[in-house]
Amino acid sequence: MPELPEVETVKSVIEKELGAATILDVCIKNPHLRQPVPKDFRESVIKQRIVSYKRIAKYILCFLSNSKVIVFHLGMSGTLRLEKNKLPTQKHDHLVFETSNGYMIYNDPRRFGLCLCLDDKEIFENRLFKNLGIDPFDKNLTGTWLKKKLEKRSLAIKQALLDQALIAGIGNIYASEALFLAGILPMRSAQTLSLKECHALIKGIRKTLSEAIAAGGSTLKDYRQPDGRLGYFQNKHCVYGKTGQSCPGCTCFLEKTKGIQKTVQGGRSSYYCATKQR
Ligand SMILES: [Zn+2]
Repeated sequence: MPELPEVETVKSVIEKELGAATILDVCIKNPHLRQPVPKDFRESVIKQRIVSYKRIAKYILCFLSNSKVIVFHLGMSGTLRLEKNKLPTQKHDHLVFETSNGYMIYNDPRRFGLCLCLDDKEIFENRLFKNLGIDPFDKNLTGTWLKKKLEKRSLAIKQALLDQALIAGIGNIYASEALFLAGILPMRSAQTLSLKECHALIKGIRKTLSEAIAAGGSTLKDYRQPDGRLGYFQNKHCVYGKTGQSCPGCTCFLEKTKGIQKTVQGGRSSYYCATKQR
């Protein structure tokens, strides 16, 4: 599933490649995504120039010259592919945008993603965005803020991190990685985190996400960058998917500790070093 770093990468690439393109036409081959593509989508976007691009949590927003916004979510398996010239469509290509700077194709085998058009004034009234938590890079996300939010929550901190209404856009991989960097066990009750640990956790979240963005996002299963290149962050994970191995800089005696441990929380895998994380 594309996580925040992949989505940020996709947003940066399409921003760089398409820039201030004008949308000349849109071919909707299959409107049946998680939410159907609106019937008036084509009329709302054609002949419009893309004014700016923005990522909010795992949504990509393209702001248009008529004050409309195209909203993409890549769901479980969605990709945006860029092509300079018109090529034959591929299986699961659902929308094809023809722009003055080339083609952009939305492909999604599992169709859990979406492509909508909203009025820019109404974005935050839309139910997709209304209950979305704070962005990991928002300057208002501080240790003090997080500590207050976690005060009455007894669930495991790993699961609190996946709550999109708390912080939006931290996926399963990055939750494990951030907790490792902060030295906090994933099964710790959220309300037991000290202010110092909340600071460390935010630092860990930003570090792991920034590194993944710099590396072009992870390559896991369905993910491809829009220009077809693969991301390569997966080799740099500290603990995720590394059961039994030693963590970076680990001083524990591997044969005794059995290295990185895996546990399942809320049906999702978590990885941790029992020596470094408390
Ligand atoms: Zn270790």
